[in-house]
Amino acid sequence: MIRRTFLDRLLSFLSALVFLPFSSFAQGNRYLTIIKNGRKSQAPYFEKFGQIYISLVDFAQSGDFGFYTNEDRRKTVLYAGRDKIKFTAGNSFIVLNDRILQVLGEPVWREREIWIPADLLVSIFNENTVHVMQFDADKKIFSIGAKNVNIASIQISTKSNGTLLHIYTSKQFERKNVHLKLVNNWLYVEIFDAKLDVNSINQKVPSGLVSEIRAVQFDNSASIAFKLRKKIVTRDLVFDPDSTDLLISLRTEEPLVDQQSEKKKLDDQKNDWKIHTIVIDPGHGGKDPGAIGYGRLYEKNIVLPVALKLGKEIKKRLPGVKVVFTRKTDVFIPLYQRTKIANEHNGKLFISLHCNWNPNKKARGFETFFLSADKDSRARDVVLKENESINFESKKEQKRYQGVNFVLATMAQNAFIKHSQYLATVVQKAMTRKLSSIEMKSRGVKQGAFWVMVGATMPNILVEMGFISNKHEARTLKRSATHTKLASAICDGVVKYKRDIEGAM
Ligand SMILES: [Zn+2]
Repeated sequence: MIRRTFLDRLLSFLSALVFLPFSSFAQGNRYLTIIKNGRKSQAPYFEKFGQIYISLVDFAQSGDFGFYTNEDRRKTVLYAGRDKIKFTAGNSFIVLNDRILQVLGEPVWREREIWIPADLLVSIFNENTVHVMQFDADKKIFSIGAKNVNIASIQISTKSNGTLLHIYTSKQFERKNVHLKLVNNWLYVEIFDAKLDVNSINQKVPSGLVSEIRAVQFDNSASIAFKLRKKIVTRDLVFDPDSTDLLISLRTEEPLVDQQSEKKKLDDQKNDWKIHTIVIDPGHGGKDPGAIGYGRLYEKNIVLPVALKLGKEIKKRLPGVKVVFTRKTDVFIPLYQRTKIANEHNGKLFISLHCNWNPNKKARGFETFFLSADKDSRARDVVLKENESINFESKKEQKRYQGVNFVLATMAQNAFIKHSQYLATVVQKAMTRKLSSIEMKSRGVKQGAFWVMVGATMPNILVEMGFISNKHEARTLKRSATHTKLASAICDGVVKYKRDIEGAM
């Protein structure tokens, strides 16, 4: 390494003084050496106001530390062992774990990276972490080492009925060398052969049951004392089987967290899943006839009576459950409006009823769909056909169903997909059971990207109750007795779903 010449110093001093661009003087190809565990690497540096700046990324890479840079916010987070340090360009505050520290100097932003004075880095690490750094400004050597400690850090976490103390160690202590002692609401953890990073532990912010922390190093042992806010009932020391760490659990008489409010939260969550409102959506209607089948049979005229019967059946078998219809008469309702109605009524299930159509007049059977953005090629024709309903909506309203909107809306559905799938399964099973007597066959449960289901914030299914393009099924689907059977079968599925889901809560 070349010793800095007087001219060098003068130039860098002048450049800082007159705010000349740095690259004209100091940038060149100037490198310093970083040494860790005897391994050497080179990293560029520059000088400003007599300070030598090093890139945090180079530093992290040489030191084997993790790092993450957010270029927009000009922040870099370093992960050094147990410590997480956040640096922001132009800001003399750094965040070290749970503390905000003000340091004497500022990181700067340059070449899309954060640079920091080497001396500053040394003091931040030496004062706050188990790492020991040194920087020799003349020789341009930066060395990274570790303090001679085996207990570097602790963590306190609060549980519902107590507190967990986590003592991070790099040494496997024996049980006989760790003692817990409770004196005047102070819990002393005494460990033979421990070498503490006293500074780091004492700077830990107390929380939960712990109101104060005191770490003391003796010749052959060390003590970490925790002042407790409450009387504890039990204390247990566990040697973490996955590491060398020590875990101490402290249990209090009364739970620290308000049990009443915890219970209420749980009840609220349960109520949230309770199926108190079911939305029934008879497909199509008004100017949208849906599919037109054998003998000019309109889909919209079959799904409506089935829907009304299903509503009646649900009210009879599940008293207390509210039934909401998206339409009860022969009117046109845009697709987006249907899930909007469902959401506004805080519906817990959404059931859309349809009849199928296929140019192949032989196609027969019923199937149940749940919404998914995944491509299920078997469902493609049905999806295309049902999605045609948007052609009856204005051009402006059709925009609602385009690209990104669709993806976002289906993503919002993800939380309900498992439930929707289960509902589809039990409904399809119940239909299979009840409809075999009238020679209608199951085509199974499928997934499809139906517009009508997008945006519903509840489990939802779409039932294709049979093919009106098929002569036999068109005749069957026209009959009132079939409507009753269909309604009763779908209701069977809903009852089972409700019982299973609510029973699981
Ligand atoms: Zn339809």
